[in-house]
Amino acid sequence: MLPDKCSIAEQGKHCVNPPEFVVSVKVDEDEFMVGVTCQKHKQIVSKKIQILQGEGKIPSGKVGFSPLKAVGTDCIHGNEEDFVQLDTSNFKN
Ligand SMILES: [Zn+2]
Repeated sequence: MLPDKCSIAEQGKHCVNPPEFVVSVKVDEDEFMVGVTCQKHKQIVSKKIQILQGEGKIPSGKVGFSPLKAVGTDCIHGNEEDFVQLDTSNFKN
């Protein structure tokens, strides 16, 4: 079950755009879904993930974006509870 909204929150307000991309981290042969994002927040999400990887909160690996409709349910691991919270309130550009 995928969220129906972009994973980004700014100043505590959740982005209301529908998700357009699944954000995943590829580690060796495994791909972990870490969130979903709209087109507008793609860059922010990839920067935020790099920070979380630096903090060891999500696996280090290659960050990838897949168009939402192209994603099957059997090839990507993860579920909604595993998604990172991408609140950008204290995010420095
Ligand atoms: Zn968004």
